[in-house]
Amino acid sequence: MTKYKLEYIWLDGYVPTPSLRGKTQIKEFAEFPTLEQLPLWGFDGSSTNQAEGHSSDCVLKPVAVYPDPARTNGVLVLCEVMMPDGVTPHVSNKRATILDDEGAWFGFEQEYFFYKDGRPLGFPETGYPAPQGPYYTGVGYKNVGSVARQIVEEHLDQCLAAGINHEGINAEVAKGQWEFQIFGKGSKKAADQMWMARYLLQRLTEKYGIDIEFHCKPLGDTDWNGSGMHCNFSTAYMREVGGKAYFEALMAQFDKNLMDHIAVYGPDNDKRLTGKHETAPWNKFSYGVADRGASIRVPHSFVKNDYKGYLEDRRPNSQGDPYQIASQVLKTISQVPTAAVSAAA
Ligand code: ADP
Ligand code: MN
Ligand code: MN
Ligand code: MN
Repeated sequence: MTKYKLEYIWLDGYVPTPSLRGKTQIKEFAEFPTLEQLPLWGFDGSSTNQAEGHSSDCVLKPVAVYPDPARTNGVLVLCEVMMPDGVTPHVSNKRATILDDEGAWFGFEQEYFFYKDGRPLGFPETGYPAPQGPYYTGVGYKNVGSVARQIVEEHLDQCLAAGINHEGINAEVAKGQWEFQIFGKGSKKAADQMWMARYLLQRLTEKYGIDIEFHCKPLGDTDWNGSGMHCNFSTAYMREVGGKAYFEALMAQFDKNLMDHIAVYGPDNDKRLTGKHETAPWNKFSYGVADRGASIRVPHSFVKNDYKGYLEDRRPNSQGDPYQIASQVLKTISQVPTAAVSAAA
């Protein structure tokens, strides 16, 4: 038997966006535990905005398990928060609101800033560094400094070792700003892995004395880019049947549900979705082929392929909850009839 360090990880009840929490328990297993072998656990919900003090027990239900690349015999146990009965999802549990759909694929592009001493990594104590231009996909000390890439590479290795479907990295437009992408098949897969990747990144930067700033516009109304989390999505129907009529019906439904989407696409998004810096205004829905100034970008390949494939919703921001984003995208898609539209087309 081996003693494993099980890190139970969950989302707290803070609004508008939750934070990650985690605590460890040690348990013996003959080999690396499967999801079915991991017991329910509990925590004090009164300390995480999830319960009142007099009745504070919340239940942690394991939903995904990954090897912990930073710990000997470590296990990362991603959990949903449940009511004391163990079966009713807690109101803060947004994962439970995602429609089950094995054919739904999501790719999230997480942008973020490294922050140290209250400013982006590489910014001088007062004023600003040289203006944006050389930083995006840049190389060299004057563009990316000496620490950022080291962290980014270490994070990439940890994600891959944990079995997370990390798809790539790039230095972003602002100094101190980076991006990584996570792709997953199944309606919850990419969102689960995005939360795990965020956890690994935040834990990793502790030892560097650096924080991750997820706010979508940390430098306010300046000429410095904000951070998004573009949501690339497709369903089996979009990939295999699609068609112009279905696409147009889908976009009409996205337009109709504008406010429902904006409500879960991350806080302060009006400060980022201004119409500048490759964004569309937050209060007006638009789409366009290869248009990075639209709410939804339609890849060239989509049109060439008879309106089949994936679409990119560029509005979700860096602080958004991928569970709530995936949930709303699939809800809107589910409101558009499939067979009827394709039959009429
Ligand atoms: P860009 O920066 O040009 O918008 P990225 O390469 O950063 O593009 O991100 C594109 C994302 O789209 C990737 O995460 C990729 O996995 C995802 N993606 C590709 N094909 C599909 C698909 N069929 N369904 C959903 N997401 C997809
Ligand atoms: Mn990208
Ligand atoms: Mn980007
Ligand atoms: Mn993108």
